[in-house]
Amino acid sequence: MTTISDRRTAGGVVRASDPDYDDARRVYNAMIDRRPAAIAYCRNSVDIQDALAEARRNGLAVAVRGGGHSGPGFGVVDDGMVIDLSPMSAIDVDADARIARAQGGVTLHELDAATGAHGLATPAGVVGSTGVGGLTLGGGHGYLSRKYGLTIDNLLSAEVVLADGRVVTASEDEHPDLFWAIRGGGGNFGIVTSFTLRLHPVSTVVCGPTAWPAAATGDVLRWYRDFLPAAPEDLYGFFVTMTVPPVAPFPEPFHLHKACAIVWCYTGDPADAGDALAPVRELSPAWDGTGEAPYPALQGMFDGLLPTGLQWYWRGDLFREIPDAAIDQHARFGELAPTPLSQMHIYPVDGAVHRVGTQDTAWAHRDVNFSQVIVGVDPDPANAPAISTWTKDYHDAVHPYSAGAAYVNFMMDEGQDRVRASYGANYDRLAAVKGEYDPDNTFRCNQNIRPA
Ligand SMILES: Cc1cc2nc3c(=O)[nH]c(=O)nc-3n(C[C@H](O)[C@H](O)[C@H](O)COP(=O)(O)OP(=O)(O)OC[C@H]3O[C@@H](n4cnc5c(N)ncnc54)[C@H](O)[C@@H]3O)c2cc1C
Repeated sequence: MTTISDRRTAGGVVRASDPDYDDARRVYNAMIDRRPAAIAYCRNSVDIQDALAEARRNGLAVAVRGGGHSGPGFGVVDDGMVIDLSPMSAIDVDADARIARAQGGVTLHELDAATGAHGLATPAGVVGSTGVGGLTLGGGHGYLSRKYGLTIDNLLSAEVVLADGRVVTASEDEHPDLFWAIRGGGGNFGIVTSFTLRLHPVSTVVCGPTAWPAAATGDVLRWYRDFLPAAPEDLYGFFVTMTVPPVAPFPEPFHLHKACAIVWCYTGDPADAGDALAPVRELSPAWDGTGEAPYPALQGMFDGLLPTGLQWYWRGDLFREIPDAAIDQHARFGELAPTPLSQMHIYPVDGAVHRVGTQDTAWAHRDVNFSQVIVGVDPDPANAPAISTWTKDYHDAVHPYSAGAAYVNFMMDEGQDRVRASYGANYDRLAAVKGEYDPDNTFRCNQNIRPA
């Protein structure tokens, strides 16, 4: 029988009558169950042009799938054409020039492995199976962002197949308006076949979680919100409310206990990490799992806990500050998490992220300090209502303290007002660029920007 791995090698189109159709239509979030008319495995821009032409001939909606991690499942569409980029997984690293060129279907795990072999890296997300495509086009933040910015702040150019089939380069010099828009504007403007990214020297880091019992959530979060923005940019830590997973390396006495944690990454000289983390140790964490590791190992640390096929429900928001009243809600909803994998994360987006202007890229929120995501997660579809309700209630309780906008990669399908709010002052310019490059809104399976 033909497998998805065969499809990646041979290309071609999977339809409902094919035996591998159910495998081919699956995305990371198992809450999404859509039945496309066709799934085209594209190996290059010619395959993409053919798939776009077939979609146009048959009046099919188009969904583009990179890593397939979108919460609302934008990588698959009912009765439409899925353009699957997973065969496009090549990466070229020019270590001397500190540049990587990654094709549109590359995952973070693949990118980190290729660049890590040269002691280099670019900022990206914290779970290796995420696609470089969707993550980069939405902005992209992770362990290196305080020091080196968002993923888009390291994007030097991209090759893009436009809705009319033309292949163009977007950079500061070529199609600069398109280059501006794809740095945060999502997949609205075309299909990116390759991303050229700036790399930085990153090899051994001091990293891992420090954790406290859930009862300490208020105190630890109050400390975190004051400590981290003032800490050196070599030190990154994201805050988590969680249930301790019942697996090593988490210590057995804590298994399945509700907790809060901060996951650290120190990119300075490992010899200095003790000083950088000394204030954390003064908070007497119940468990200190930090240690030295190659950066790509840190990037894969949580992959085993979050395999494809779980139910996910998402809500995101951006915050300038985290007032005490919001912290009270975090302490309350952390304890109420309905399933062991349901979590809340607060990621710092300061430091180098703030050194890019609000209008320099489509990512409008250079003045916020934290990007928060609440995820209800569970393997059992019977728990889908419980995880969705907890996520929405939690979000409703903390949203009033937010900057009124979210990071588009942390949103479900929440309507046009949320999309507009999330692009803020940049929305009108994005709509104008959309009108120029995709006037018929061919690329609309995304946080959609309507063509002006
Ligand atoms: C477990 C998990 C952890 C995460 N952690 C982080 C994190 O640390 N930091 C962070 O910033 N984000 C994080 N995210 C969010 C992530 O950035 C988004 O889910 C992102 O959309 C995933 O991209 P993808 O290519 O895997 O998804 P897909 O579902 O394939 O695509 C998402 C969107 O991007 C479009 N797209 C994808 N590739 C291309 C392309 N090459 N050309 C044009 N359009 C394209 C799709 O059409 C779709 O609209 C995480 C997500 C998950 C599930």
